[in-house]
Amino acid sequence: MGITTQCKTLSPIAEDILGKRYYHEGEDWKGLCERVASVISNGDKELVDDFFDVMYNLDFLPNSPTLANAGKESDRQQLSACFILPVEDDIVEIMETVKNTAIVHKSGGGTGFDFSSTRPKGSPVSSTNGVASGPLSWMKIINATTEEVKQGGMRRGANMGTLRVDHPDILDFILCKKNDKTMTNFNLSVGVSDVFMDAVEKGDDFELVNPHNKEVILTDAREIFDIICKNSWESGEPGMIFIDVVNSTNPVPHLGAIKSSNPCGEFYFIPFGVCNLGSINLVNMLKSVEDGRYVIDFDRLKKITEIAVTFLDKVIDVNHFPLPEIHDMAHNTRPIGLGVMGLADMLLYMKLPYDSDAGREMVGKVMKFIDDVGWATSNMLGRELGTFPEFQQENLPSQKTPRNCQITTIAPTGTLATFAGVSFGIEPNFNFVYRRKIVDSEFIQVHPLFEKVAKEEGFYSEELMETLRTTPSLKVRNLAGVPEHVKEYFITAFDISPEDHVKMQATVQKYVDNAVSKTINLPYDATSEQIGELYMMAWKLGCKGITVYRDGSRDDQVIVAVKES
Ligand code: UDP
Repeated sequence: MGITTQCKTLSPIAEDILGKRYYHEGEDWKGLCERVASVISNGDKELVDDFFDVMYNLDFLPNSPTLANAGKESDRQQLSACFILPVEDDIVEIMETVKNTAIVHKSGGGTGFDFSSTRPKGSPVSSTNGVASGPLSWMKIINATTEEVKQGGMRRGANMGTLRVDHPDILDFILCKKNDKTMTNFNLSVGVSDVFMDAVEKGDDFELVNPHNKEVILTDAREIFDIICKNSWESGEPGMIFIDVVNSTNPVPHLGAIKSSNPCGEFYFIPFGVCNLGSINLVNMLKSVEDGRYVIDFDRLKKITEIAVTFLDKVIDVNHFPLPEIHDMAHNTRPIGLGVMGLADMLLYMKLPYDSDAGREMVGKVMKFIDDVGWATSNMLGRELGTFPEFQQENLPSQKTPRNCQITTIAPTGTLATFAGVSFGIEPNFNFVYRRKIVDSEFIQVHPLFEKVAKEEGFYSEELMETLRTTPSLKVRNLAGVPEHVKEYFITAFDISPEDHVKMQATVQKYVDNAVSKTINLPYDATSEQIGELYMMAWKLGCKGITVYRDGSRDDQVIVAVKES
């Protein structure tokens, strides 16, 4: 028997969020799933039941904008979470981007920008005989615009800002949040090249190049790297984008180079790129076998993956894109972002530690399976409906007729995982007692599997559960009476070494077309040198980017859909 929730009742937390932000007038979960299935299947009777079932049973959920906006009047039916907007070295174009940012945020999407082509501050501006104010001033304007536009009434807009490491204003960029406390609507990433990382390793000089007049300033690569690490140590930012690694898998390089990602780092694409996401709930893909063990039900996972890819592809056709350029890019490239949630919980059910070779091996197997089935489905859709118009065989050598330029990506699933009641994306659990603050309400919960395991292993007591509930900071590994072998897999994000976090990200990245949203958690006493080593490690293992968070270093975040302690 599988452990599908066969959802009829959602948790109070889920109902709370759904009621406040997702349900249309008079709707409940069933009504929402009927509405979304009907809009996305767009009259295809063969698909509507499958689409309904996967959502209703919480086997697969599309990203928040799809759940909230499907079925709204046509110009508000914006269904995607991720957007990339251009930033040119031209004031008129920049102001156009500011306007477009407001439009995208209003429609429920997050935006990513690369500021590397804007001239550094102090550069001459011929048309005004003045001097340029530099990339940071444009970021300020976008930041302020974001502050004023609440996303479609649902959530705050979020931005990713990147600057290439060879831009002359790179130090100002790295320090910008430290120097300007109002810059709260941006996540920051430095776009680092392989040349830069090599120079850091060898202790070589590195060239900063003015994008406007090509003037070169020689600098010490290690010095810049150390400043990045020091700031990440202090505040978790900036993160890094390994821009050459990202471009090595660009599925449409003939349309341009990739320079930035969306706010949480799962979607790297060229300007005007857009992606609608959706995630498979891995906990629901488990089945128990005779001896009580849980294994992956691969037949079921195959079916759900096929439905999910078909669903996400269909979203593109009924999506109302906020700008004509975005509409055209979406229809010509057709990227979809199929990911997973509940990965850490899946490992818990299988009694595989998140930080073990066996755990990573299982994760690799599952992700490869989803990616393979995903591409097979896309090729099948391509045969039926046509390949995506910008498909060029040499860019995707192992595909013949793909409908989509990319299939997989790993979103944070900040809201979706809360609906499904499972661990976020590929993140480990933060604790096994959750204090969740959502909007104005607070909820306390003990992980459902903990009680089950405690009973099975004979260490359950009411007293133990009460201790857990009333001491939310208590970790299972510090709980008296829990057997050692149980402590080994009931581990939290801060029990796992930072290196093991990176290894998990790299394992997943290996089988994901676009990228992986993940935080590398570090203990409070970690050093900035350690962060440098992790950045190097992530680059060498083929990650596309990296974000670290040192325990206690920061009490705010751009996206606080769900905050746990
Ligand atoms: N996002 C956003 N604002 C938010 C949360 C999310 O713009 O407050 C966008 C952002 O691009 C992010 C993406 O939605 O990377 C996916 O986030 P997540 O998986 O947490 O969204 P969910 O579908 O679970 O709400």
